[in-house]
Parts: sequence; C-alpha cells; structure tokens
Amino acid sequence: MRIDILTLFPELFKPFISTSIMGRAIENNLVNINTHNIRDFANNKHRQVDDYPYGGGAGMVMAVQPLYDALDHVIGLHDLKPTIIYLSPQGRVLDQAMVADYSRHTNIILLCGHYEGIDQRVIDKYVDQEISIGDYVLTGGELAAMVFVDSVTRLIPGVLGSSDSILEESHTNHLLEYPHYTRPSNYKGDKVPEVLLSGNHKEIDRWRRTQSLKNTLIKRPDMLSKAELSDEDQMLLKELKEHK
Ligand code: SAM
Repeated sequence: MRIDILTLFPELFKPFISTSIMGRAIENNLVNINTHNIRDFANNKHRQVDDYPYGGGAGMVMAVQPLYDALDHVIGLHDLKPTIIYLSPQGRVLDQAMVADYSRHTNIILLCGHYEGIDQRVIDKYVDQEISIGDYVLTGGELAAMVFVDSVTRLIPGVLGSSDSILEESHTNHLLEYPHYTRPSNYKGDKVPEVLLSGNHKEIDRWRRTQSLKNTLIKRPDMLSKAELSDEDQMLLKELKEHK
C-alpha cells in the first residue's frame, strides 16, 4: 500500500512513522508512507497557503492553488488511481468496518486541513471521501491522518505478529474484547481468574466469550444489535442481563 499525506506540518509524522509497528511495517515494505509539505507548492513570494474567506467571517481558508498543485503532483506519483481522503469533522465517522475496507486499498492520498478548512473547490474536484475521527473539532487533520494510518496499517497482512489477535479484537464483530491478564498469576493477593490457568481451552473460550458479551453489555450495549450472536450467546446474554 502506498499512502501520501499532504500537510502543512510533515515534521509531526516523523516519530509516528519511524516507531514501533509502523516503523517495522515500513521497513518491511508492507506500507510506503510519504509526507508532502503543501507550502512547497505555494507559488507566491511568501509561500502563503491561506487567505481570507469570501463573504467575510472569522479565520482563514486554505487556498486552491497550492492544494491543486500539490494534489496534481502527488496523484502523478501513483501508478494506480489513488483514493483521495480529506480528514474533516464533516466526514463519515471512521469505524472498524471502514478501516478493514481501506486496508485492502493499494493507493491512498490523505489531505490534512488547517484553519477554517480548505476551499470547497478542492473537495469538489479531488476528494473521494471525507473522513472524521469523531464528533469533535481538531485544529488540524494531522492527528486524524495518524489515526487513519495506524488503524489501517495494522490490518495489512504481515504487519502484526499474529493475525488471530485481529479476529477477536474489539469492534471486529461488533463486540468488545474480553479482559487480558499476564504473569504473575497472583500479585499481592490480586489473582488471575482460575479458568485461564486451567489449560482447558474449551472452558477458556467459553469464559472469554461470556466476558466479551458482558463487556459489551455493560460498556457499549448499543453495539449488540449489530453483533452476530449464536443461540448460546443469546442464552448467555439473557443470564447476564438477569444478573446485571
Ligand atoms: N471550520 C471547520 C468546520 O467547522 O467544519 C473545521 C476546521 S478544523 C479547525 C481544521 C482542520 O482540522 C480540518 O480542515 C480538518 O482537516 C481537521 N479536523 C478537525 N476535526 C477533525 C475531525 N474530527 N476529524 C478529522 N479531521 C478533523
């Protein structure tokens, strides 16, 4: 997968793309991430990228010229037609199903806005999808772009050590995951649930499924209507609701 990020602050991405799982994914050529400074494409003397909004009002707007030129340049770097995403609080709110879908794309361009946002003509001409990371407003699209890149990259086959862990993760099947424990089994009297030490994998699976249903019921009951539940799950849920 090739991802190009258009931003006014490419330096923000340096530690992010060189650290931990992301750094390894790039090193192993599983993903290719490039940042481009939109200011480098401004053709005025002061390399200004923003201007006053037509119609008046507060704040500045990112102007068309640098954005058109930056996008034309970066599109030209792709051998396949890239999907162009504008990170925006007005976009569709990112969820795990969208993340999984994007992890199968090969060419993506991310556009980070600032100030009051970008000139609407850029969105109309170039943008395939506006994506939001939640119903709140950030000062710029960079953190949203990192959220997008992180969540999408970890689903690319080979990026995480074990792909099994992805299958059971929170949100994958509209359920939250079960709790995790690691050594020691007893720390100052605080003990790990006995069943996890039993070696009985059938019992462990059943305990984890119950905990997953319980977690979802307590923390995100709204998700349960979308989850695929077996007859056994329905029975477990009924019991959990009765003891809630
Ligand atoms: N005036 C815009 C509005 O009310 O819709 C908000 C602009 S915001 C201050 C500046 C930039 O931050 C946006 O252009 C966008 O790139 C980014 N941004 C802000 N909130 C975001 C969110 N929830 N998700 C993704 N990007 C966001």
